[in-house]
Amino acid sequence: MIPLLRLENFSVSYGAVEAVHDVALDVNEGEIVTVIGPNGAGKTTLLCAAMGLLPAKGALSLSGERIARPSVEAMVARGVSLVPERRELFAEMSVEDNLLLGGFYRWRTGRRDQKARMDEVFQIFPRLRERRGQMASTLSGGERQMLAIGRALMARPRLLMLDEPSLGLAPLIVREVLQVVSSLRQHGVSVLLVEQNARAALQVADRGYVLEMGAVALTGAARDLLHDRRIIDTYLGIGTGVGNKAAQ
Ligand code: ATP
Repeated sequence: MIPLLRLENFSVSYGAVEAVHDVALDVNEGEIVTVIGPNGAGKTTLLCAAMGLLPAKGALSLSGERIARPSVEAMVARGVSLVPERRELFAEMSVEDNLLLGGFYRWRTGRRDQKARMDEVFQIFPRLRERRGQMASTLSGGERQMLAIGRALMARPRLLMLDEPSLGLAPLIVREVLQVVSSLRQHGVSVLLVEQNARAALQVADRGYVLEMGAVALTGAARDLLHDRRIIDTYLGIGTGVGNKAAQ
């Protein structure tokens, strides 16, 4: 099977400091893949470079096509969307207008299906339909994250890259947002999910990569990682659920 996204020998530097080192990562069609790891491990850097926002060494391919010089334009044109950690909504614009802007690239390239796209987004996030006329700045944290994801979906991506969608959200809302993320496969969207909340991410993902000091320390099926002794000790703790059971 040819993966939707393949990174090989992928390295990213800030000046003389290499923040991501020789990473190999695949996202297959229909998969939810998560990258977990501690603060400063290089997760955001990896995602930004994979979106073409930062220069990288190594190879990036989409559906087998090698992208020689990844740029945001090249990635968007090939059906990749990124939801950045800071969400970057247009605070003083309505929910509807934020969504329409997410569909701008499609509109500009002659695909005038924004109404239908918005209906699909409202089916995925019914709460956004109720709040369609409301200013983005007045939304709750969870609703803002939904809007940021909804806006990215307006571009009809094949691959959605999410940077810490759980950041700053209450546990119940994290679960709600991530459950929607995992349902995106049914809409033909594959997901690369960067998360510090390892447990929540591994519960919705198919496969996971553990990034430590810029390198892949461990990779495998998400359910195996959830029960891996090293992951439990380092990232999941013994407070609840899986950690508890494994610790007995
Ligand atoms: P977090 O979960 O805290 O966001 P992360 O795993 O996403 O962490 P990165 O933000 O990718 O990690 O950072 C990886 C390393 O690169 C860190 O050591 C960080 O200090 C460094 N770094 C990040 N951005 C820059 C930058 N613009 N200039 C220089 N170094 C940077």
